[in-house]
Amino acid sequence: MPSETPDTRIDWTNLLFIGGYHVALLILLPVYLMDRVPSWELILGSWALWTLSLMAITTGYHRLYAHRTYKTNRVIESVLLFFGTLAVQGSVLQWSSDHRMHHKHVDSDDDPYNAEKGFWHSHMLWMFTGRRLVRDRWVHDLLKDPVLRFQHKYFAPLMVLVNIVAVAALWALTGDLFGAFVIGFLARLFLVHHCTWFINSLAHMWGSKPYSTEHSAVNNFILSLLTFGEGYHNYHHTFAGDYRNGIRWYQFDPPKYVIWVLKKVGLARDVKQVNHLTIKRKLINADKQMLLEHIRSLGQAHHDALAARVEEMSTQLTTQYTALKTVSDAYAQAKKRKDEEVLHLKERMVELRRSVSQDMQDWKQFMNETLSMEPSPEPALERA
Ligand SMILES: [Zn+2]
Ligand SMILES: [Zn+2]
Repeated sequence: MPSETPDTRIDWTNLLFIGGYHVALLILLPVYLMDRVPSWELILGSWALWTLSLMAITTGYHRLYAHRTYKTNRVIESVLLFFGTLAVQGSVLQWSSDHRMHHKHVDSDDDPYNAEKGFWHSHMLWMFTGRRLVRDRWVHDLLKDPVLRFQHKYFAPLMVLVNIVAVAALWALTGDLFGAFVIGFLARLFLVHHCTWFINSLAHMWGSKPYSTEHSAVNNFILSLLTFGEGYHNYHHTFAGDYRNGIRWYQFDPPKYVIWVLKKVGLARDVKQVNHLTIKRKLINADKQMLLEHIRSLGQAHHDALAARVEEMSTQLTTQYTALKTVSDAYAQAKKRKDEEVLHLKERMVELRRSVSQDMQDWKQFMNETLSMEPSPEPALERA
């Protein structure tokens, strides 16, 4: 695919707006705090606006629109669009165009927030050059939606309007207009922005890579707390079509719970989820790459025999997981049809599960033993 022509002109709108509200916050917050203590109503109201804005970005902009991991009705979409607009991160079309490019060209020059260019570039500096054009070919599906076209066309007035409504609501709740502006708008925007930007910067730098080492995205529990579940970014870049980012029930991923509940009450449909056996195969492949890298560092003495063992064991495991997935799918189909084959397929499934579980134990033991091996010392030079 040909490279996008980089546009290096400064985006003055973004620079002045983002720079301006940071300066305003820096000046007005101490001025406000010198004069009074914010009320509990103001703090809780601002916290609610922060939560709702970030949740609308993750549940709406990211998982509903940019990745289409589920479908929902116009009422839920309108709520997500209202609070997404409140987050001041551009229109859905703009956001999704940038984000889809990021996934397709991750860690390259065509990635708008390429983490290879360093923390500050991927965190915020990328927004200050003129690359933020909606590229139709990236969002051709979303362009068919008149509501999204409307939001894009009138984004600036809509963004001002929803933020005035939010500040006015806080003012009505607290009777403190200055506080509503400084805490409920400036400070809330600062937190919403930096928490989202951490996904492009820190979530590509600080954490583990259990699912794939083919990209810079990492998993990080602390970031998942700050970003409402988006900290499981290594999984997300490996399986971007999954509605979940933290796939274990205990992994903090609020949009996952929201979408799950929406599905249960009939308000979300076509919810996409990657099969757990496909995930297992990917995990084994990631382990294999890590082991081969470690074995290379051990030196030639160990290399060939150990590398051959890694290949053999990982191939056997992935073959078994593939077979298990085929049998599981066939079992589910047969069960639906109330076919006689069900019993036979169930027995085969149990058998395969037992054998996979044994092979998995052997693999883990082999991994531990191999990873605990140290590089052998270079042979001492013979003295004359
Ligand atoms: Zn990313
Ligand atoms: Zn994404």
